[in-house]
Amino acid sequence: MKFVIIAEYFEKLEATTKRLEMFKILSELFRKAPKNEIDKLVYICQERIKPPYEGIEIGMADKMLEKAIARATGTDIKKVKELYKKKGDLGLVAEALSGKVKNKLIKPKELTLAEVYNGFLKTAKVSGTGAVDQKISIIAGLLSRADPKEAKYIARFVIGRLRLGIGDPTIMDSLSQAKVGDRSLRKDLERAYNLCSDLGLVAKTFFEKGIDAIRKFKVTPGKPIRMALAERLPSPKDIIKKIGKCAVEAKYDGFRLQCHKIGNKVLLFSRNLENMTHMFPDIIAEVKKLKQKEIIFEGEALTYNEVTGELYPFQVTITRKRKYEIEKVSKELPLRMFVFDLLYVNGKDYTPEPYIKRRKKLESIFKKGELLQPSAMIITDDPKEMEKFFEEEVSAGLEGVMAKRLDAPYSAGARNYNWIKLKRSYKGELADTIDVVIVGYLKGRGIRAKFGIGAILVAVYDEKEDVFKTIAKVGSGFSEEQWIELRKMLDKISVKHKPARVDSLIEPDVWVEPKYVVTVKADEITRSPLHTAGKTEKEEGFALRFPRAVDFIRFDKSPEDANTVTEIKKIYKMQFKHT
Ligand code: ATP
Repeated sequence: MKFVIIAEYFEKLEATTKRLEMFKILSELFRKAPKNEIDKLVYICQERIKPPYEGIEIGMADKMLEKAIARATGTDIKKVKELYKKKGDLGLVAEALSGKVKNKLIKPKELTLAEVYNGFLKTAKVSGTGAVDQKISIIAGLLSRADPKEAKYIARFVIGRLRLGIGDPTIMDSLSQAKVGDRSLRKDLERAYNLCSDLGLVAKTFFEKGIDAIRKFKVTPGKPIRMALAERLPSPKDIIKKIGKCAVEAKYDGFRLQCHKIGNKVLLFSRNLENMTHMFPDIIAEVKKLKQKEIIFEGEALTYNEVTGELYPFQVTITRKRKYEIEKVSKELPLRMFVFDLLYVNGKDYTPEPYIKRRKKLESIFKKGELLQPSAMIITDDPKEMEKFFEEEVSAGLEGVMAKRLDAPYSAGARNYNWIKLKRSYKGELADTIDVVIVGYLKGRGIRAKFGIGAILVAVYDEKEDVFKTIAKVGSGFSEEQWIELRKMLDKISVKHKPARVDSLIEPDVWVEPKYVVTVKADEITRSPLHTAGKTEKEEGFALRFPRAVDFIRFDKSPEDANTVTEIKKIYKMQFKHT
């Protein structure tokens, strides 16, 4: 496939913010892709080179790209920098300068998708001494053959600023549309995606082997399974009414991990499926000791106090991530992992099995008192007993409980009532915190003006429309250092206009790509004409009253993992049930 076709379609995508139109453009582009290359195209549309869990990043900074553009177009580096200052977008710089050298005598051979993709992959893989120069020369090689349009998108891609404004749901809808002319196969594609977290692989299987192969898709050790998520209900009574006799587990406020053991190799994945293997050497050592050759299980990792046995909350556990000497920290802050689900053992996929069967197997493998131990659990159909267990866990410092349907399979990638969370509530506050995505910031007045950032504009995810809708301006909760750090991080992902996937009535001083998730606490959810979350023709949107940030960025969450409009609606309704 010629890369120029892709560049043309990307231009069409760029020219619209209408979701329906974007979907049509993308499906047309997919229809043009050959079977054996659709995976590469999907990765590029996801603005990746490989699925996220492989952790393959291109590693190009603006300065390196400036050099590549200068080299490819025979332009003085000073001129490249000047143009960048003027245009504010290295994609546009590459486009403008490529146009100038195209009156060459020998016309270069047209770039193909495979060449561009392989160039990106090669760039990502070079390391060691001389890596910077090698990366620059690979990208310069591509740019020197690119026409202006192609150069624009190659340049933007390598510095992570492609920003097509399309999410995975739109990609899946478009794949279905490209093959069968409607979105009817989206559910099947989504199921396969949930089992392997690799949309390129799903697309390729679909295009090469058809829908039957997608329907037969199975769990593979080494490929993370998209995590099952919980709904919420306000009381034990509501829970029993909804799912009857159920398992009730302690709800640990730790770091969720999915462990894969394949022979002697162990991989750990976070909530948003990033590879976290390097962070927990102590867990790796324990998993290696398991006698099962292949196993996939999930649990919550927590640091604890060796003397008192007290479990530390999430914020303490993740200090490991920030420190370099993980080995040393492992000794200072020892870990426990409370295993709460078992997904695969020696060739057998346990995800379709009922909870009770998975739990039985889990308890035959993991034992109480060890580093890897089963989560605390009771089975009951009595709200009072659930309440008592809940109170015990809360007084032991835990977050609450998780009720689980006894006959439910593991619902990969889905949030439903197979799991229900019940959290302790705080007086005068919402029982739950809300995870929101930053979409912009306001410069602020008064003392904050000196940081150039006074509040962030935040949004929740509308999963039906695949867009982010605003719900609050958050101006408190961060320390001075955090505001300064945040501004730096946001400036790196700032954009001139409202991003295509953002729906907002408020115009912040600076727009940013929806990328960072923060957890906020609020007193309640109210209705407000200012926000777009949950806004319909008849109803006003939802807003958070007195929102304040809890801790810093949630690096274990992707923007689509933020709370959704549907969840906000539920929490809004639940408020009135509380007395
Ligand atoms: P979510 O992960 O559902 O998007 P969240 O990050 O806001 O939500 P919570 O609402 O507090 O987290 O609850 C869900 C999380 O609770 C799970 O993702 C998991 O990390 C954690 N958890 C703790 N204990 C358990 C347990 N026993 N079973 C399942 N999950 C548990």
